[in-house]
Amino acid sequence: MNTHELWQAVLGEVELKLSRANFTTWFRDTFISECQNGQVIIGVPNNFTLTWLEKKYHREILESLQNVTQEPVRSLTYRIETKAKPAAAVILKEAPVIVVQQPPRQQEDYGFIQTDSGASAKSNNPTSNIAINANYTFSNFVVGKQNELAHAAAQAVAAQPGGTYNPLFIYGGVGLGKTHLLHAIANEMRRQNPNCRILYVTCEHFTNDFINSVRLGKGKEFKDRYRNVDLFLVDDIQFISGKDATQEEFFHTFNALHQDNRQIVITSDRAPKAIQPLEKRLQSRLEWGMLVDIGTPDLETRIAILQKKCLEKGVLLDRDILHYVASVIYSNIRELEGALTKIIAFHQFKNLVPSLESVKPILASFESENAKKTVTARQLISVVAEYFDLHPEDLLGKSREKRLAFPRQIAMYLLREEMKNSYPAIGNELGGRDHTTAMHAYTKIFEMLSHDDKLQKDLELLKQRLYSS
Ligand code: ADP
Ligand code: MG
Repeated sequence: MNTHELWQAVLGEVELKLSRANFTTWFRDTFISECQNGQVIIGVPNNFTLTWLEKKYHREILESLQNVTQEPVRSLTYRIETKAKPAAAVILKEAPVIVVQQPPRQQEDYGFIQTDSGASAKSNNPTSNIAINANYTFSNFVVGKQNELAHAAAQAVAAQPGGTYNPLFIYGGVGLGKTHLLHAIANEMRRQNPNCRILYVTCEHFTNDFINSVRLGKGKEFKDRYRNVDLFLVDDIQFISGKDATQEEFFHTFNALHQDNRQIVITSDRAPKAIQPLEKRLQSRLEWGMLVDIGTPDLETRIAILQKKCLEKGVLLDRDILHYVASVIYSNIRELEGALTKIIAFHQFKNLVPSLESVKPILASFESENAKKTVTARQLISVVAEYFDLHPEDLLGKSREKRLAFPRQIAMYLLREEMKNSYPAIGNELGGRDHTTAMHAYTKIFEMLSHDDKLQKDLELLKQRLYSS
């Protein structure tokens, strides 16, 4: 196992213990800089991150490292360092035993994906600096009941861009293949027409790019960049909620492209209606073409995905092992892949042949993660009420007093985030409130979490109480 794989496996574990916002903030651009005789040095991009990791996440990182390597870590330190090309650098130093296909998640969340094979760099089209991940294709996308419509729509779009399905809007939970499909469309279109101009952005990148263009007075360059493309791919559009100026600009970009019959494909973790607040006219644009959702794959599909990934990695695992993994991890394909990587890495590291017995302990953390699902909504409401010194009835009642409203919003947030309840169901649980109230509560807490340390701690404590009660 090389250090890149080791770090991916550690991140996979750490990720389960943190909120998504925290995880992406603090673990972005980190890597193992040195790892020798139980002494590990983590490279971090800046002092800020260094302090945080040291002060807040040291224990988590240490535990995960020891878990993955099953070896004591004698010293764990951090050092400010940047690494230009994470994957390539590692591969050059030591030939990897397993090639991890998955690009580091941080890159997916921020800006352009930079893992191109180089093919596009040769063509002289204006967007050739923007790399599409060549590993995400239609041929390695496993189709099951829950994603067949999204898959079919994506293929239709790639075959006939700017046609009936414009825009194509794909939505669904985390790690279910939305980004994969976006890249698959790009790869397919590029295969058919190497000169086709493709622009892939995350919503965050679009926002930052727009803000910078305003700040630097480069509005024209911005427009040129975004309006002269044949295929415009926008990942995770939900982050546009509440950003009025960006919504406005996006609206105009959308119109310009749509009018020219350029294909637009958008992904989101929720339906356009559920992105709040979002300008009505933009919402209606998003719903103009084809709306498809991706659901969590069933057991057979999960096994098929694992088989495919094994094949790609050139490893053979018994079906009973695959079955076990697929039954423990059921809501997220990224996690499924992460678990597989971990299993393979562990056995190669230890030079062991994988068996059900040796695999089970590796998935222990996932099992406890899934134990969450057994908490009921009522229990959750009681835990939140108790935490704030209230009665559960207080949260269900009509009063909108602030001392009640805030805990109520937290309960709603947790029902959504931890238990994946639908907004109408959440409204119901909390005294028959409207689903828009639940939606608003979720968005509000979600946004507060990105800058409110106290709230982050409260939620951590709440979750601990929830799952230990
Ligand atoms: P999302 O964007 O929905 O959060 P991703 O597209 O990033 O999810 O998918 C997470 C990981 O799971 C990726 O590595 C992707 O290749 C893999 N994956 C998702 N769906 C499938 C599928 N149907 N077949 C094969 N791999 C998949
Ligand atoms: Mg994605």
